[in-house]
Amino acid sequence: MPYIHNTITGLMASSPAQSEFYQAVEEVLESLEPLLEKSPHYRKNHIIERMVEPERQIMFRVPWVDDNGEIHINKGYRIEFNSALGPYKGGLRFHPSVNASIIKFLGFEQIFKNALTGLQIGGGKGGSNFDPKGRSDNEIMRFCQSYMSELYRHIGPTTDVPAGDIGVGAREIGYMFGQYKRLTGRYEGVLTGKGTLWGGSLVRKEATGYGCVFFAENMLKSQGDDLKGKTCLVSGAGNVAIYTIEKLYQLGALPVSASDSSGTLYDAKGINLAHLKELKEQKRVSLQNYLEQYPHAEFVPVKDYPEDGHAVWRYKADAGFPCATQNELTEADAKALMTNGCNCISEGANMPSTPEAVEVFLRNKIHYGPGKAANAGGVATSQLEMSQNASMQQLSFEQVETRLKEIMHDIHQRCSETAKEFGQPHNLVLGANIAGFRRVADAMIEQGVV
Ligand code: NDP
Repeated sequence: MPYIHNTITGLMASSPAQSEFYQAVEEVLESLEPLLEKSPHYRKNHIIERMVEPERQIMFRVPWVDDNGEIHINKGYRIEFNSALGPYKGGLRFHPSVNASIIKFLGFEQIFKNALTGLQIGGGKGGSNFDPKGRSDNEIMRFCQSYMSELYRHIGPTTDVPAGDIGVGAREIGYMFGQYKRLTGRYEGVLTGKGTLWGGSLVRKEATGYGCVFFAENMLKSQGDDLKGKTCLVSGAGNVAIYTIEKLYQLGALPVSASDSSGTLYDAKGINLAHLKELKEQKRVSLQNYLEQYPHAEFVPVKDYPEDGHAVWRYKADAGFPCATQNELTEADAKALMTNGCNCISEGANMPSTPEAVEVFLRNKIHYGPGKAANAGGVATSQLEMSQNASMQQLSFEQVETRLKEIMHDIHQRCSETAKEFGQPHNLVLGANIAGFRRVADAMIEQGVV
């Protein structure tokens, strides 16, 4: 369609060198074709042009001093993308690869994901190119304080409520919350993913991983199947991967892999979850250390990965859960998964499959849950944290998990009903994009040209 080409060309001119952002926009626009044909008023209202331009982009300097007294300067971001449905909501990522393109792709995806939850939350994302690896607790604290010293003036419980993402967990949220409170004098729900002692919600830590498994279970159940007894590949070894593995075990599946920036771990007997948590949540060391306790397992270092993909997707399994980072599953990986009999992919990470890999999944008509639907449990539970903060109540673990399960069921339902409405019942990419877009676009039209 010429308008897709024109939109991408326009973005390339106005926002150069943002390939991940163009990739995310193109994927959404391609899915919208049938909707735009059926409902021309979206084009007439220039909704696409308005949606691809963030409402506000904040970039700032983050200076900090390491334990040796050396000064470091990082770049901080917060992209407030779309507030048609509520306050901007989306995580903060601290990773050396962070740049404007990565944050914009994540912020753009977040708009549709948040819309799919059915809750009142807009889309935003932020972060920094700070590398937390190997930094002491004090260095992390000083960095978080410096980052918040600028961010605090842009956020608030009814305007913009950040959460965690890669490199930002409970420790970092704690340091940032402390600094926000010190600067503003206000104790309020300005961040989610907080410690449960001081305003956090039970199940927030587990929510993205658990939700991603619930989504897979919903896809399988729609065809009378489930996860029980299924061998599963999981990539990543952080927050999302760990709680994906935990829920897979709870539902009777066998998760046999994990991966991190040093390589891929494969344990045919099933990943030992307690040991994985010890290595990654407490000691924060490479997965390679797993072999010291479990020498029967295999570890493939990144340097030995296949040229056209990633070792983790080359093992035989029934289902796959990419939970590390963007573009971590290539076309060759997708073909290997198909050859090995995998028929279910549920994305815990954001945009982990390349567009070519997605094509392979759709062509093979497997159960494929795109990240913006399958990993929405994290942000949905963040919204439950916001509402608990606002009403000064705390829900029990069971209450939040039950709500999360219902929300994931509803998201699956919304995506699959929309996919059916447009004559492609297996295509949840189309279903997720159209269902998310329609909700945001209708709200934008009703709110006028703002
Ligand atoms: P964590 O920082 O807890 O874990 C990330 C994991 O992925 C780590 O094991 C890390 O390796 C690995 N990783 C990160 N970047 C790379 C890379 N470039 N190459 C290889 N490995 C990499 O992050 P999360 O688990 O929170 O996030 C994982 C994914 O899930 C991201 O795509 C995020 O956007 C998405 N997501 C997260 C949500 C949340 O609630 N946290 C919500 C929705 C989506 P190492 O251990 O070596 O650093």
